[in-house]
Amino acid sequence: MSTLPLFASQPSPLHAAYACDPAQTLGRRFPEVDAPTRTAFQRDRDRIVHSTAFRRLVYKTQVFLNHEGDLFRTRMTHSLEVAQLARSIARSLGLNEDLVEAIALAHDLGHTPFGHAGQDALHECTAAYGGFEHNLQSLRVVDHLEQRYPMFDGLNLCFETREGILKHCSRRNAEQLNASEPPTKANVALRFLEHTQPSLEAQLCNLADEIAYNAHDIDDGVRSGLLAMDQLEAVPLFDSFRRETLQEHPHLLPVAQHRRLLYETIRRMLSAQVYDVIATTRASLKTSSPQSADEARQMPAQVQFSPAMAANSLALKTFLLHQLYRHPQVMQMTGHAKQVVTDLFNAYMADPAQMPRGFALRAQVRPGNGHETAEVAVVVADFIAGMTDRFAAKEHERLTGLRLLA
Ligand code: MG
Repeated sequence: MSTLPLFASQPSPLHAAYACDPAQTLGRRFPEVDAPTRTAFQRDRDRIVHSTAFRRLVYKTQVFLNHEGDLFRTRMTHSLEVAQLARSIARSLGLNEDLVEAIALAHDLGHTPFGHAGQDALHECTAAYGGFEHNLQSLRVVDHLEQRYPMFDGLNLCFETREGILKHCSRRNAEQLNASEPPTKANVALRFLEHTQPSLEAQLCNLADEIAYNAHDIDDGVRSGLLAMDQLEAVPLFDSFRRETLQEHPHLLPVAQHRRLLYETIRRMLSAQVYDVIATTRASLKTSSPQSADEARQMPAQVQFSPAMAANSLALKTFLLHQLYRHPQVMQMTGHAKQVVTDLFNAYMADPAQMPRGFALRAQVRPGNGHETAEVAVVVADFIAGMTDRFAAKEHERLTGLRLLA
């Protein structure tokens, strides 16, 4: 007889009324017995950490391709940083920390290899069949593609976690998804058709994602040599904290100390954004006063930056777009990455038997319904999207004889 405490169904007293409560979850697609020692959201987080797609994030590009250096962020370290920021803000706002952690760790599971270059290429390849969208793919991973449980496909996560993972969704995709979702509130497509908000936890993860990449892309950009410290002086948010840091620590002025100056500036910038979100959201929640997670979903977005910080964040994003993401050196690599993905797509479409057995079997679609090519394209996109950078490069070399990414 187990003596473990049964707290899976008890709400935590630390959570506010507007937080998602694991005891009140809208449930899983396939009913399961509660775990004896973990809440439903803790269990989701654990399922994500143990998934194959999560482990692959370590070999997937964030901005710099995986083979370009060992010290740059990968999708894995990015996801961990998002989880850290989201947890810390959630605690301060009385939101459910386990849920934000689960959403943050899963939010990029559907990303292709080679970052946005890979996603753009796969989207172009599949345009005739509805296109490729990484948010929807993240949901496909946790709903269908992970195969590790005896009685269902996917990880069978709670509605609240799935809701947070599906950050964006086109109307067309939402209508399609709606057909396979339950006709209840536990339908992740519904809010894109009714234009309501997701839970506060989901809203928070969205913002934590932005805070994380704005900060770590500066760090990686400088580390790579593609961004110079003096270029960053054009970014008001960065520059104000750089000046503040130098005022307090003038010994960081010489170039030899610039690494410390960079870290301290980024640290202050991160803190300022976190405190801004907490203060702005608190004020907003105080006025709107939602009495439940569901009431908060019916309100305009509550988790946000102040207008001044939103403008600062936008300026930083714009700077990174022009100076880093579109840097000629980054563009050259993304050009190669796009070719790898496009060549792979064409090769598997021409001969699906080149894929591993499970995918090749799925690609043997029943003839006669007129959608055969589209159905094969979905299987090929699933296979390519799941690849790590180096596996994609190796497969490309095997199939084409070309070595584009060393
Ligand atoms: Mg992200």
